[in-house]
Amino acid sequence: MKLKLTLALLTLALNQACGSAPETESVSFTKGFPAMGSLWQTMPINVCFENATLANATERGWIQTRVTNEISGRTSVSFQGWGGCPAANGPNIPASLVRINLDNNQWPHVERLGRGLHNLPNGVVLATAFSALRETDGNPSFPGCDATTASRKDCVERIAVHEFGHVIGMAHEQNRPDNGDPECRKQVQGSQGSEVVGYFDNDSIMNYCNPIWNNNGTLSIKDVHTIYHMYPDSGLQSRAAGQIVSKYVSIEQRSRDSIGQTTSGVLMAPDRYGFFQRYQYGIFYWVPERPAFLVYGAILGKYAQLGYERGYGYPVTDELSTPDGVGRYNHFEGGSIYWTQATGAHTVHGLIRNRWAELGYERSFLKYPMTDETATPDGIGRYNHFQFGSIYWTPATGAKVVHGDIRNKWAQLGWERSSLGYPIDEEQADGVYRTQTFQGGRLRWDSRNGSVAVLPR
Ligand SMILES: [Zn+2]
Repeated sequence: MKLKLTLALLTLALNQACGSAPETESVSFTKGFPAMGSLWQTMPINVCFENATLANATERGWIQTRVTNEISGRTSVSFQGWGGCPAANGPNIPASLVRINLDNNQWPHVERLGRGLHNLPNGVVLATAFSALRETDGNPSFPGCDATTASRKDCVERIAVHEFGHVIGMAHEQNRPDNGDPECRKQVQGSQGSEVVGYFDNDSIMNYCNPIWNNNGTLSIKDVHTIYHMYPDSGLQSRAAGQIVSKYVSIEQRSRDSIGQTTSGVLMAPDRYGFFQRYQYGIFYWVPERPAFLVYGAILGKYAQLGYERGYGYPVTDELSTPDGVGRYNHFEGGSIYWTQATGAHTVHGLIRNRWAELGYERSFLKYPMTDETATPDGIGRYNHFQFGSIYWTPATGAKVVHGDIRNKWAQLGWERSSLGYPIDEEQADGVYRTQTFQGGRLRWDSRNGSVAVLPR
């Protein structure tokens, strides 16, 4: 089976990128799409060029340096060699060998994923100039790449790191089964991974739907985590312990008093790149390339209900105080948890959180969440109730605020189960009235007497 795993088209990135994968309301807890059966069994991985010449020494240097800095510099994967290739059927083939063919008349690609490339002649094809590569309509596939030496170097490097993602066993991020964006699904291409790791990562260098072509030739932080998942690093344990100790020392005394005594050592999470240490009433988390963060108290209680990092991703902040001094919150990869004495701890995430954020979070008229994000009984919508209103979301209508007397009337009628269905916009001022349109009609509030009338669409 010959699989072409071509790189993301520059033209695609410039003209037809599927843009940001829509943040759906269903939290997805996965990222990265490695083919775990294709992992290399030994490190370092040997790399050679089929056609190393003095004339292409500069370009070979670009490839070696960028791949080494980006992948070996940030993960446990290492490479060596980078000279000319031995005969594929000759003696002295090392345990791992990736053979690169520099060819400016072929689309850059890999023939297999991961160790399927071992000693495969021309297994990786990379270009160092791009003007010969054309689309079926004759337009250049990589417009602008050959304009200057700097632009050519940039294109060579972006492509090299992406293709080396395949070399170590990563499939295209957009191929993941949890890619829910119909536009982005059109870009599904090449081999499939065998498992999904972490959240769907729009920023992945392996994602054609990333609006930044090959993520500027850099691994996203989630790519780094995916690679640690594929190739765990025993050295991470001591880094994690060091980071967690530093965090413990740096937190305010109030937090130290709140979490009690340590009840575990520094342990590796099931995903194999995250680490945690339990205290009686708190947990410290650390993942590569981030500081350690502490989750504790009522917010930890909610996070535990969600399944900890497996359910809501890793914390990306410590517990912080809201500006009004009333609330506390943590942001996580999967969303946020907000707590106040009056409302308890509740989740807000996805497009509902985005809408709340646009309005100013708890500083908005909605104030704090009174519920977690919850599914409506019809299974179509999701909502949060806040202290002074609600945000309802469906795939068809987006996230819309409903509040005040209009919300009271809608609630009386039976919420989204009424003939009104879901809100399709938010309140609009209309003279003495304020009107909100729903799927099945309108609600009009009269400022003169506070009454709310049900009107047809
Ligand atoms: Zn690719």
